[in-house]
Amino acid sequence: MSATIKPFTDEFEEYGRDESRTSGEASSISFPTTEDEVRAILKKLHAERVPVTVQGARTGLAAGAVPHGGHILNTSRMNRYLGIRRDEQGSFLLRVAPGVVLSELRKQLGKKVLPTAGWDQASLEVYEEFQEAPEQFFPTDPTEASACLGGMAACNASGARSYAYGPMRPHVTGLHVVLTDGDLLELHRGEVFARGRRLSLVTVQGRTLELDLPDYTMPKTKNASGYFVADDMDAIDLFIGACGTLGVITELEIALQAAPAVVWGVSCFFDSEDKAVSFTDSVRPVLSHAAAIEYFDAGALDILRRQREQSTAFASLPALDKDAKVCVYVELDCDDEARATEELYHLGWVLELAGGSDDATWVARTEV
Ligand SMILES: Cc1cc2nc3c(=O)[nH]c(=O)nc-3n(C[C@H](O)[C@H](O)[C@H](O)COP(=O)(O)OP(=O)(O)OC[C@H]3O[C@@H](n4cnc5c(N)ncnc54)[C@H](O)[C@@H]3O)c2cc1C
Repeated sequence: MSATIKPFTDEFEEYGRDESRTSGEASSISFPTTEDEVRAILKKLHAERVPVTVQGARTGLAAGAVPHGGHILNTSRMNRYLGIRRDEQGSFLLRVAPGVVLSELRKQLGKKVLPTAGWDQASLEVYEEFQEAPEQFFPTDPTEASACLGGMAACNASGARSYAYGPMRPHVTGLHVVLTDGDLLELHRGEVFARGRRLSLVTVQGRTLELDLPDYTMPKTKNASGYFVADDMDAIDLFIGACGTLGVITELEIALQAAPAVVWGVSCFFDSEDKAVSFTDSVRPVLSHAAAIEYFDAGALDILRRQREQSTAFASLPALDKDAKVCVYVELDCDDEARATEELYHLGWVLELAGGSDDATWVARTEV
């Protein structure tokens, strides 16, 4: 059955914008709940030559979910958990619809309770193993936990923890993508590769697509612009980070990993940028369990000072030293407290050498 395509009236005004705070126009909108509905909508719109903007939770800061005329296809109501399996290494691979929200996923993983309605027997058996296994987590953290998994894959989200875990890409092992004409691609990591820069894809409906990939070289630094391309690349990587321009992600398989038992957040304050840079340079090779190293400038610290005075949510924070101009936040993900203590000792040593002080440092620890 096809989801309703509704006129874009005032009632949907909020869907004309995202967190980039820019807004646009559309003539119609839909909120499909299944892959078949997405296929039917795209098939119809393709025949009518109507452009489509795909949306997840609209937390993006780059205006990718802001429409410029045409139709808005919003995937936030596609939020079912679809199944689970294990790979050869024993990792749990979870299949979800694109509208599953990151904060919800985290809660479910923390409680070891997933909504299993409609799962097949094989998934239910693996689910029992999941419940008995050590707590699992999904490492990608784009800061805004109301983001959807589909949106995160579409823009290859990264965030602070990408220092240790990389962006979304390596954690996505499978994708369903509905193409603009309604045909479906089912992609599994490790199955279909380009030959050089030539990629051949076959849709579930049996259509063959021959693609010449762009010939540019990806920079070796962190990069979120342009399609990901490489010689002999895995086909799935073309669609991760394509920001909805190549099709609609209607299903994802993501790799979970054992949650770190101990997570400590260390906020190191400095009275100059130079000291913060020197600390960052020196601490990177010394730490082996840093999940994040993030920079806060003077403006951010001033916001913190104001919030502490004005908002009860921040009142319990210690007062910030008046000389503190820059903060470097380091997150340590460790298997046990002994390892975290060792890392903290190394960090303190580098901190003093760089001109910081133990006394002015905040350490937040997980409850044990
Ligand atoms: C305070 C704040 C901090 C942030 N910090 C970070 C950060 O550190 N790192 C980071 O990477 N991001 C950050 N973000 C951005 C944002 O949270 C991420 O980009 C998020 O992953 C987008 O997910 P979404 O569901 O909101 O997608 P949307 O914003 O709805 O869409 C993002 C893009 O993906 C496309 N898209 C969405 N769903 C689909 C789908 N199912 N199929 C195909 N295409 C789709 C859209 O067309 C659009 O181009 C931050 C955002 C906020 C508000």
